[in-house]
Amino acid sequence: MNDTTAPFELTCLICGKTISLIEADLFAQDLTDRSFLPNGAMELCSYGHYGTTFFDPCDGTQVAALICDECMEEHSNRLLYIDKQRYLKPYNAAMRELEEQRKVKQDEREVAPAPHLPTEEPQVDEDGYPIISEELPRATSSEKPLADN
Ligand SMILES: [Zn+2]
Repeated sequence: MNDTTAPFELTCLICGKTISLIEADLFAQDLTDRSFLPNGAMELCSYGHYGTTFFDPCDGTQVAALICDECMEEHSNRLLYIDKQRYLKPYNAAMRELEEQRKVKQDEREVAPAPHLPTEEPQVDEDGYPIISEELPRATSSEKPLADN
């Protein structure tokens, strides 16, 4: 067996194109999916679930499919997006919303740029501690303590 190939052929579920692995030698030495990085494709996994008759062993094992990036793009109107609250949306609609939100934030940053941060290195003493300027306002003992009732 060639050390740089997987022990079985990896293909796109949709178009059947052969899919290579990034760092394929890791896959050949260690037959787990921990270092499984399809090149130009996605690994989509499922434990199965109530409602499917195809795969649902309920034992922690999974079925996986590889789909190349071109097929994901071509059929993105069939995909679902799952947000952090686990709500489902059509993928393309969710991507448009995220892009609009990104543009709004970018526009806000251009209107009000981030405050200028000092570029000079802070002055430090011989031990590496910052030198505090005596001109900084400090609380003084002449301030009145809070009145106690
Ligand atoms: Zn494909």
